[in-house]
Amino acid sequence: MTLEEYKKKRNFEKTNEPGGKKKNSEGKIYCIQKHNASHLHYDLRLEFEGVLKSWAIPKMPSKQKGTKRLAIETEDHPIEYANFEGVISEGNYGAGKVEIWDKGTYDLIEKDDKKIVVHIKGKKLTGEYVLLNSKLNGKKENWLFFRTK
Ligand code: MN
Repeated sequence: MTLEEYKKKRNFEKTNEPGGKKKNSEGKIYCIQKHNASHLHYDLRLEFEGVLKSWAIPKMPSKQKGTKRLAIETEDHPIEYANFEGVISEGNYGAGKVEIWDKGTYDLIEKDDKKIVVHIKGKKLTGEYVLLNSKLNGKKENWLFFRTK
């Protein structure tokens, strides 16, 4: 887990996003940001090993059990990104409005390279959710995200 790719994509003199360092924080942060970039999507972030592991979800995540959403793995983000809201100005990576859509904590139930099971405790989403590395369309970054319990 590293923030190299996150930093490579951004110019911190021009974007209002946090620069960020890897952190040893205690809690398990869960958040979803609604990001109105070139295409509206929802950025799911889960704290792992001092960074926020991240996925871009093109359709609004569902509270209903079994309603699957494509979740495209993106670069790890710094922990403080979970509090970021604002407008990333034109010309920057991910230009557009970022709003916190849901936020809370999670408990880890199971995790390997292909499957992450978490108990999400947010305001909008609560319950057991799974991320499955589906390799949909042959792309290793494609996961499926849905509620199981
Ligand atoms: Mn995004």
